[in-house]
Amino acid sequence: MLEAIEIAIGGEFERKAQVSASGENSVLPAGASSGQVVTRFAPSPTGFLHIGGARTAMFNWLFARHHGGKALLRIEDTDKARSTPEAIDAIFAGLDWLGLDWDDTPVFQSERAARHAEVAHQLLEAGKAYKCFATAEELEAMRAEQREKKLPMRYDGRWRDRDPSEAPEDAPYVVRLKAPQSGKMTIADQVQGNVTVDTRELDDYVLLRSDGTPTYMLAVVVDDHDMGVTHIIRGDDHLNNAFRQLALIQAMNWPEPVYAHIPLIHGNDGAKLSKRHGALGVEAYRDDMGVVSDAMFNYLLRLGWGYGDREKISRTEAVELFSLANVGKSPSRFDAKKLINLNGQYLREMDDTALAALVAPRVAALMPEFDPTGGIDLLGRAMPVMKLRARDLNELAEGAQFLFKNRPLSMDEKAKSLLDETGIAVLQTVLPVLAEAPSWTAAALEEKLTQFAEAQGHGLGTYAQPLRAALTGQARSPGIFDVLELLGRGESLARINDVTRVAA
Ligand code: GLU
Repeated sequence: MLEAIEIAIGGEFERKAQVSASGENSVLPAGASSGQVVTRFAPSPTGFLHIGGARTAMFNWLFARHHGGKALLRIEDTDKARSTPEAIDAIFAGLDWLGLDWDDTPVFQSERAARHAEVAHQLLEAGKAYKCFATAEELEAMRAEQREKKLPMRYDGRWRDRDPSEAPEDAPYVVRLKAPQSGKMTIADQVQGNVTVDTRELDDYVLLRSDGTPTYMLAVVVDDHDMGVTHIIRGDDHLNNAFRQLALIQAMNWPEPVYAHIPLIHGNDGAKLSKRHGALGVEAYRDDMGVVSDAMFNYLLRLGWGYGDREKISRTEAVELFSLANVGKSPSRFDAKKLINLNGQYLREMDDTALAALVAPRVAALMPEFDPTGGIDLLGRAMPVMKLRARDLNELAEGAQFLFKNRPLSMDEKAKSLLDETGIAVLQTVLPVLAEAPSWTAAALEEKLTQFAEAQGHGLGTYAQPLRAALTGQARSPGIFDVLELLGRGESLARINDVTRVAA
């Protein structure tokens, strides 16, 4: 059932619409008639790929891939101060890391200013836009009056019906859209439901500034049209803009796209996601937190989209299952702990060689003595046991360091305390026993040591901790027999010998 709601749109000073629609929407996508779905992701470069942006990108990509359509990328780089090559590269790198590929060549909005202006001039000629010669002082006075009278703050249309010849000669002007002044406008939003505004709420907003440059609103509409976008999937902070954009689309007689405004991501306290909730850029999860791409993809997918109560969904399954109908209508909460736990699950399922390749540079950063070329094989062999407990790539790298330490090992405080007199005595008895093991596998070593421990009337625990300290320099490591097998016979016996010999 559709639930119609009305929202108010402010003028030059926009108010956030309070939208709380529910109910399914049965409107057919416009693309259905022309046959091909075309979506776009249109980030403004800010220095990183925001996690909210990454999710919007994913939803656009998934919707297009699900329908066998096109997913396009447009860089909204008109703010030249912020849109540095580094900021743009950060977006490309983030999208690439998430495995999101795009059709056609990316569009750079800044390169299309002439085309945007052309459309504004077409509207002028058709009488659907007009020149406004109001000065900055006049507009300020107008706003002051509106403020005082508590009227909605918006341009009052003072040049809408005036003849431009009334303006002083050579006076600067902006071009404004002649927005509709009566009636209602409804967007059958695929996520929010039907959303209606009174068109009196729409102002005659600026299309071209007095220096002839296009405004953001004009650029977005022209680009979406020229790129053949059929479905606009984006954050619901753009819902207000949609009505203003639609007025322009209608003025041009262009086909209307289908809209889907997705609720924003909130922090786990329910407030809008901000820096105080933790990192906002995708690269921080990739680089600093050691999250793998598949886990990030899955986590962001489930943040705002669901398929029953399934938590783990692969990219391929997501393409198969994705629909806008299953996008949630209320803001979802970003929970870094859940992401890290899911990451742990993905690590356990990853191919060990691929995992070792991701871990190797992190080990190298922790210990200069690590040689990635020589060490990658051992790292790969260590992954099956190491990944059982790790939740991120950093934990794997930290945990793997013992494998590559130079002898004699430096011991941390806990290891030192395990290697007291008793600990060393234990190692002295166990060293010849291990040396006799028929083969150097975890299973054979376990059998050998278990028999010995039983004969001595001790539990295995008596031996495990001093061994761990001597073999790793730490009090924590993977299972001791796995450690022995990974280090190999020579290195293991030498590390134990280093400890017992010093004490002797
Ligand atoms: N560039 C806008 C942003 O990054 C998105 C515009 C749109 O999707 O229409 O928020």
